Amino acid sequence: IDFIQALQLEGNQEKKDEEKISEYKKARLTIEETKKSLPVFPFRDSLIEAIKNYQILIVEGETGSGKTTQIPQYLHEAGFTDDGKKIGCTQPRRVAAMSVAARVAQEMNVKLGNEVGYSIRFEDCTSDRTVIKYMTDGTLHREFLSEPDLASYSVMIIDEAHERTLHTDILFGLVKDITRFRPDLKLLISSATLDAEKFSTFFDDAPIFRIPGRRFPVHIYYTKAPEADYIDACVVTVLQIHATQPLGDILVFLTGQEEIETCVEMLQERTKKIGKKLKELIILPVYANLPTDMQAKIFEPTPEGARKVVLATNIAETSLTIDNIIYVIDPGFAKQNNFNSKTGMESLMVVPISKASANQRAGRAGRVAAGKCFRLYTAWAYKHELEDNTVPEIQRINLGNAVLTLKALGINDLIHFDFLDPPPHETLVLALEQLYALGALNHHGELTKAGRRMAEFPTDPMLAKMLLASEKYKCSEEIVSIAAMLSVNSSVFYRPKDKIIHADTARKNFFHRHGDHLTIMNVYNQWADSDYSVQWCYENFIQYRSMKRARDVREQLVGLMERVEIDMVSSISDDTNIRKAITAGYFYHIAKFSKGGHYKTVKHNQTVMIHPNSALFEELPRWVIYHELVFTSKEFMRQVTEIESKWLLEVAPHYYKSKELEDSTNKKMPKTIGKSANNF
Ligand code: ADP
Ligand code: MG
Repeated sequence: IDFIQALQLEGNQEKKDEEKISEYKKARLTIEETKKSLPVFPFRDSLIEAIKNYQILIVEGETGSGKTTQIPQYLHEAGFTDDGKKIGCTQPRRVAAMSVAARVAQEMNVKLGNEVGYSIRFEDCTSDRTVIKYMTDGTLHREFLSEPDLASYSVMIIDEAHERTLHTDILFGLVKDITRFRPDLKLLISSATLDAEKFSTFFDDAPIFRIPGRRFPVHIYYTKAPEADYIDACVVTVLQIHATQPLGDILVFLTGQEEIETCVEMLQERTKKIGKKLKELIILPVYANLPTDMQAKIFEPTPEGARKVVLATNIAETSLTIDNIIYVIDPGFAKQNNFNSKTGMESLMVVPISKASANQRAGRAGRVAAGKCFRLYTAWAYKHELEDNTVPEIQRINLGNAVLTLKALGINDLIHFDFLDPPPHETLVLALEQLYALGALNHHGELTKAGRRMAEFPTDPMLAKMLLASEKYKCSEEIVSIAAMLSVNSSVFYRPKDKIIHADTARKNFFHRHGDHLTIMNVYNQWADSDYSVQWCYENFIQYRSMKRARDVREQLVGLMERVEIDMVSSISDDTNIRKAITAGYFYHIAKFSKGGHYKTVKHNQTVMIHPNSALFEELPRWVIYHELVFTSKEFMRQVTEIESKWLLEVAPHYYKSKELEDSTNKKMPKTIGKSANNF
């Protein structure tokens, strides 16, 4: 790739932009001034007026116009919390809920968790004094279980509605229903883009309040040919911009933590090599699992004369607004959870984004001055290969958890639930079947006692089932640790580029011969034995912050186990029990070794492989259970553990017949076959 030529041709006109930016920076607005400078500010009074006049209002406004941070404050100031009720505001993403709450607490000059707080899965940072509460859409969905009429809220804002996450889509139906018998509840649906008409129609023709945008032109550049390695292309483009372009910060969109970390390392290395010849480049990552203090860094103003580059996931597309971004680099990909309703298989994969997403991303460059967006794909690909819009989650992911929660809310007839866009029939049926197989529903489709207990857990039904099964197999201590480690959904193993051999040796020391679930349990237990030491993590190449989060999650889970009256007992000396409890939850995720060195999933005969990071990568046991599938070059099973096929008849007799499981000796394949077969 080489954008330099194109960039150099543009010559002097750049100077004017630079002046504009530096003027903007010099201003260093105070909080009060910043609030007044936001596009929503002039509409404060008319917005409040509209909310007073209508029960449901659709609010549409460009990202960064102040919807999320300002509107709840306006409502608070206008007296909507005077009767002791709260203003709620949902966010599709955890990071956004936390970050926005922190910002609003700062603007209101209160301590986070007091008047302004947030609540996300496994973490509640609110108090009795909280009047403005940010939360994930999943959290509000679960709040319906304890407060079906949302009685403690005076206003509910379903924010970032355009993201169309599964939980947001389900909330649409639930809140619409509530407004009918709670005329005092105000409902705002707020969205960044063009879906306002559609929301309005769904909410009985609710009026649309438009906040006019303020956008500078953004010049779009495409590559001439497709990029083979977009990470490398990102790094090169960042450096080209840094070397040739006027000051102004850069935002790069990547698909996840691993990519971001790789890119950060590469940029650090190369800028070190270049040395002092260039201005300072401040490299900042942001993704869901990043600790809060690091997240806060992206909002700190860039020091005079330096340039900031923020490497972000989709989170920066609409949920978070970083000021001063002038350059956007868009490789055109995002990570997406996809579910195949024919095979019942769910997998996380990197997919091309939609045109709507690409345009949102580009728009991030034009907030403070004219900007530039570098698309690392061709103009042809944009035009012909990208879909217009991203398919809403409800139409492409597993509905197990959503269906379980709806059933627990007493909504039995899901086929006629008020969906904005209904899920495919077969996905719904599959979710019902799966919940039936897990014992959560009886054959009338009604919630069973086990189902009611499972619904207490804010997790996938399979994980909830595994937790329940630990009661029978007397290993709740171990299963809770495993569940907590699985929920941290990023690798706990730290693998710095310059110490890969040491790191891999350290990792192998934790390996359990039966697989990864027991391996991560080993990690957790040894860390606990070290008294949760930072030093221990450092010495063993373990990510301390992931462990800390696992510990928090574990604590929450222990609390929930108490609620469903399961005692905490240990079966550490008997890993068969632990593996049986895992199987009781994940019996859908079984694969069997097959000829040719790969595995076949039992029910659907799909070809899958053991992930190279697995403890079983070279072992290749005959029967395995996996936690998830990740599609990269191949369909990989991640977190894999060896099981015995006869357990399947014990834990899921209604799902597996012994005929399917014939030839179930647990003899391992000769190693040589396995090794050669794994040379891909
Ligand atoms: P919208 O919801 O309309 O996209 P926001 O309310 O999120 O807009 O953003 C309004 C302004 O608040 C932006 O200029 C943004 O930079 C600023 N802002 C939001 N979150 C933070 C934060 N955590 N720290 C500093 N500034 C923030
Ligand atoms: Mg917002």
